[in-house]
Formats: sequence, C-alpha cells, structure tokens
Amino acid sequence: MCGILGIQSNQKVILELIDGLMALQHRGQDSAGLVTFDKVFHVKKAKGLVHDLFPDSSSCHFLGNQGLGHIRYTTQGTTELNDAQPFTVIYPFGLAMVHNGNVINFEELKESLVRDHHRLILTSNDAELLLYTFALELQKQNLRQLSIDDLFQTVSEVQQIVHGAYATLTLIANKGMLAFMDPHGIRPLVLGKKEMKEGISYAFSSETKSLDYLGFDVIHNLTAGEAIFIDNDMNVHSRVCHRENRAFCVFEYIYFAQEDSVIHNRLVAGEREKLGRTLAKYFRKKNLLPDIIIDVPSSAYFFAQGLSDELHVPYKRGLVKNNYVKRSFISPTQQLRERIVLHKLNPIRSIIKGKKVAVVDDSIVRGTTSRRIVHLLRKAGASEVYFVSGSPPVKNPCVYGINMSQRKEMIAANYSIDQIRSFIGADALIYPTIEDMRSIDKGLGLCDACFSGEYPTPVSDDIRIGNPMESGAFFIGEGRRP
Ligand code: AMP
Repeated sequence: MCGILGIQSNQKVILELIDGLMALQHRGQDSAGLVTFDKVFHVKKAKGLVHDLFPDSSSCHFLGNQGLGHIRYTTQGTTELNDAQPFTVIYPFGLAMVHNGNVINFEELKESLVRDHHRLILTSNDAELLLYTFALELQKQNLRQLSIDDLFQTVSEVQQIVHGAYATLTLIANKGMLAFMDPHGIRPLVLGKKEMKEGISYAFSSETKSLDYLGFDVIHNLTAGEAIFIDNDMNVHSRVCHRENRAFCVFEYIYFAQEDSVIHNRLVAGEREKLGRTLAKYFRKKNLLPDIIIDVPSSAYFFAQGLSDELHVPYKRGLVKNNYVKRSFISPTQQLRERIVLHKLNPIRSIIKGKKVAVVDDSIVRGTTSRRIVHLLRKAGASEVYFVSGSPPVKNPCVYGINMSQRKEMIAANYSIDQIRSFIGADALIYPTIEDMRSIDKGLGLCDACFSGEYPTPVSDDIRIGNPMESGAFFIGEGRRP
C-alpha cells in the first residue's frame, strides 16, 4: 500500500507536492520520493518519511509546474532506497511514473521484459516493470504526432498485459500528466481542480484529504479501467480503456484510508461508524452490556463511536497510543511485534478499573495486538473484556497491495472464533459478518478477498487455497495455543 500524488499547474509545484504527500503519510513510511519536470526531471528520494526528503531548504531548487510524489509501504521488492519511487526513463519523450498497488504477474512480466525486450531491470519494484511496459507500448505509436487515441490505446494494452492492482500517475515530458487504473479499479485515485487568478491547477491523489489540505475541489473518482490525461494546455481527456468487473478494496474503508477521506462518495468515517452500529446486535444476542466502549487508536475510533451510539454505552478514551513507536504490523519477527505492541499502547487505569470494557479494533490479523491489549486491560483492572473487531475474520492473503502476510499467520484462517477468543484471553469476541460489511458496497463493486476468498483476478492455488499444514506458526512465547 502506498500513497501517490500528482500536480499539474502553471506555477512551481514543489511545496504543494511536499505538503500534499504529508497528508498521505499514513499510507506508508518506508520511503518517500518525488519528481518535478522543468526541461529535465528533478528526482529526490529518501528512506523514511516525507520530512526526510528535504532536511534542509534544498527543495527550492526543484523547479517545474508539474510533479509527482510517492510514499511507500513495501509490498513488492525491498525497503532499500533503490526500490523507492518514482522511476524515470528517457525514451519515448521522457517518462516518470509512480504507482500504488501490487502487480501479480511480476515474475512473468520481468522475464518477458528481459528476454523479449532486452531491458535491464534495476530494482525489484513492480513500478519499474509497469513503467517499462508502458514505455514499450507507447513507442509502438506514432511518436511524431502522438494523439489522445494513441495514448489511450497504449493504456489499454498495458491494462491487458499487467495483472493486479495499480493506480498510476505518469508525467510525459512536454506532453502532460496521465493517470490510469487497473481494469478492476482496486486502489483509490481522485482528481481535484483549483481555479485561481493565476490559472487552473489539477491534482491527482490517493485520498481526498490531501486535496482538502491543498485547496483543490474533488471533481472525479477514477474507477475500473479508467484513464485521464491532462495535456500541457490543461485540457482534460478521459476514457475507460479496458474494464473488467469493478472491485474496489474494502480494506481502504476499514483500515487504510483516513477517516476524513471520501472515497467513491462515501466518507470513510461514516462507513466505519455504520459498521460499528451493526455490531450492537451481537451484543444484544449475547446479552452483553459493557460499562464503557474504548477504541484501539486510531483507526478504530469511528467503529467504537458507532457501537457506543447504538448501544447507548459511553465511549471513553481508555488507551493512549505512543505515536513515536514504529508500527508493529510489518516487523520481521513475532517477538519484536509483541514487544512493539506492548510499548505502543498504555491504558488509563482510572477509566478501566472495575469496568466491563468493550474494546474495538479495526481488524484482527495475527492476533498479536488483540492478545496484548486484553492483557493490558486486565492488568489495568478491567472486570471483563469484550474484544470487538470492526471487520470480519481475515482469512486470506491480499495480493493487491495490502501487506497481509500469509494464510499460515492469520489466526482466523486456522482457528474458530471461540478458539481465538480463548487465545487472546477475552471474555467475548465479536466480529461482523461478511454480509454486514458488504453494506458498504451499494453498487460500488468491492474486493473483499481477504475476508471472503473471492479474488477478482485469477490467483494461484497457493494463494486461493493455501497450505493448511502450515497452520499455527504464529504462536510463540507464553501464549496458550487455542
Ligand atoms: P495483528 O496484531 O496481526 O492481529 O494485527 C492487527 C492490527 O494491525 C490491527 O490493530 C490493525 O489496525 C493493524 N493492521 C491490520 N492490517 C494491517 C496492514 N495491512 N498493515 C499494517 N497494519 C495493519
């Protein structure tokens, strides 16, 4: 999962690029990169956060009225700087590209680029393959008089060659800025417009929140198979080049996008709140009445708020998060993940002590976070702990860019809900059903493969069915096996 941003203006864009990227920082913290164009490409990449791109004032040297930015959460390739985006090629025209998603026929594409097209692949990032594939298809067109049809024909070819999830932005030197989506529209991308006395600017972003910060009005959500080209005269051309069934990633609503973003006309906070409300019926069914409802900060807040409103039980801020501890989810070992979780959250004793606490998180994947939280709440004096997941049991790997690890590590792929409850040490464990979650859909067309196993693209049997013999690999330390 990553965040992308592209701005085309009649003024220097570097400062807006930096500010807009910062608003997407929650989508990845492995590396950041940007490119502007002013006769040549000016490229800057750094490991870490957007802040790390320009520790000094050197950003002022980045000239150009067009630019792309990227923040990275590694799902393909290494976390090294070499794999950071954007990537550029000099022919045809000069192209710079950023992408968010995950290419699933990576090996096949790479082989074909090397064997059939004699390309030297410099990184293990799928964005490089996307860029080379695009460049190869583009050079088959009439480059002397490249038409809009030629450009969209190129996109259509790429969409049929490259499988998986991708929302991409390409700066075509001296021509304009191109955005295109995979045929299923799995990842988010919006277009915004700003009219000032100096002229019009356009911006593409993974989330509306960065456009809000920069003062752009959101004018369009790109969807399955769509491409938009903004030429250097600021004319906007759009076409659905190659579309298959629409399958937008539901996990964007659950975890990845931030609450204040609007995706396909649905406010992320609103969808989380609705799902939280849905969960109240399971409390009634089980005759559970907590004294307080708390959230695991910060993605679960609106789930907890919805549940609290529906159950008429007060919401409290019972857990405080240390924002300076790194994320637990993608740490390499289970021991390290448990350590990080332990030091990331601290309960407020006076709020928890003696209470029946319902604690809401957005999801349970391995069960590391939930087990630690239950332990912390008991230590802080909770009389009972009911653990609530805002999303259904996660049972299948994501191949489209959410780093969900393998099925063998997913607790719900291997054990029953009651076994999970016992493992995390909760008095009750509540999940919504897949049908509850599908209330978000309302004609949108969602990918919920991580919950349902229904993948919108062909995937290998290994991904679809997995190897059940590998189950149980995630239990370490003092945890009781379910
Ligand atoms: P786990 O401890 O493995 O059960 O992970 C669940 C926690 O990780 C929840 O608190 C989620 O907010 C968070 N989470 C879920 N999916 C992801 C992801 N793909 N990347 C990073 N964090 C995630």
